[in-house]
Amino acid sequence: MNLLLVRPKPFQNESATGDLLRLAEGNGFTSMHDLDFLAARAAGSDGLERVSAMLGGTSVTGLRGAITRFPSLKADDPGGLEQQFWNGRRPRCCPACLASDPYWRASWDVEIVAACPSHRAELLDLCGNCHQPLSWKRSHIAACNCGASLSGMPIVPAPVGCIAVSRFVCAVLEDAPGASQICALSSPFDRLCARDLLTLCTFLGGYACNDGSRPTKIADLHKMSVARAISQAAGDALIDWPVGYHSLLGRLISKGCSAAYSARLTKRFGYFYTALYKRFGDKQFDFLRHEFDSYIRKEWSGQLADRNRRLSESTRTEHKWVPLTTAARELGVKRNIVCSFINRGMLSGQIHSTTAGRISGTVRRDTLNSLCAEKARWLTLAETRSALHLSRKGAYALLKSGKLRPVSGPTVDGRTIWRFSATDVAALGPQLLGHLANSKNRGSVAQTDDGGKQR
Ligand SMILES: [Zn+2]
Ligand SMILES: [Zn+2]
Repeated sequence: MNLLLVRPKPFQNESATGDLLRLAEGNGFTSMHDLDFLAARAAGSDGLERVSAMLGGTSVTGLRGAITRFPSLKADDPGGLEQQFWNGRRPRCCPACLASDPYWRASWDVEIVAACPSHRAELLDLCGNCHQPLSWKRSHIAACNCGASLSGMPIVPAPVGCIAVSRFVCAVLEDAPGASQICALSSPFDRLCARDLLTLCTFLGGYACNDGSRPTKIADLHKMSVARAISQAAGDALIDWPVGYHSLLGRLISKGCSAAYSARLTKRFGYFYTALYKRFGDKQFDFLRHEFDSYIRKEWSGQLADRNRRLSESTRTEHKWVPLTTAARELGVKRNIVCSFINRGMLSGQIHSTTAGRISGTVRRDTLNSLCAEKARWLTLAETRSALHLSRKGAYALLKSGKLRPVSGPTVDGRTIWRFSATDVAALGPQLLGHLANSKNRGSVAQTDDGGKQR
């Protein structure tokens, strides 16, 4: 077996593939293919063990990342993070980091990481000189196959979302106590392990960038252009928690809306809603569902039914939007009358008609409660006439002139009996009876004065 003569010292959290490239470079090989060729004849169950044997038994420690491109060097991430999260196809780097220390950071190999948190710069996966994608099949750690120095490539400022995600990924990879305190994200994420965090970022980023279909797999995430968009969207949803997350939920609702209006949660949020409660059903993701619940409580103007058992009971019962049917039942009127109340501004609500002509909609709970209370005090025409001291003829004249406005009745909603709001009638009283009322008041003052004198 061939022993390697030169052993460059590995760095903590160095990319496993990057470390092997430095090893190949240090031993004068033209590329990692040579190392791969030699490893084929070494003993060991994976690439890292074979390399360790070639180094005379020195163990290779502190490295992270899966090695995938070279058959005899293949190895899983020594830190145990599944291969699906690593980008073995197209390496990325931060030129400024390479300039200060020429080794490959493990975080650059994480597929969704698109920025360097130290330099707030975008990672680079294309050579600025030959414009070819970077490759692991090269001879120098800090140079492209065309000979251009990677550390000399221009720095591009990264979007804040990308920086936030990379900062948090770096912290979980390093798993250093207090590492999360320096990151831009706040506490709910501190409890997530690398696998959970990356799954969540891919999920949020995937939904934010997706056109509405179920984004289970994101194509070409190994390309910087795709990773940048996904990572930025995921970071935007996580920073300033829960503001960014709520605005993502708002966008998901409007996407669901564009297809066909539906007041049902499952229709508007699609698989996102199911995933929140199934795929992210474990305790460590409580914060996601908690904020979904509070978003629904504040912003959702569709229906909530008892079947939405996943939401908290208080959200379901205190939910401020109720279906037209419920409003109609509580008011004791038909649904079309509820619609007319909405159209006349007596209720806050929304009405939608489907292409099939079916009417659906929701009513805000607080306005429904006030209207129910108000409706209990509605006056008939006879009661109104009596309150305003009007003759039948006088009442119809006022009705015709529009001064006396019914809330229900033949010209309003087709009902046979006129109804008037007690509040409206009370307000109309002083206008109509101003003079009379004044003289009456004077009379009552005089009486009181008299009474006072008599005592
Ligand atoms: Zn950097
Ligand atoms: Zn190049």
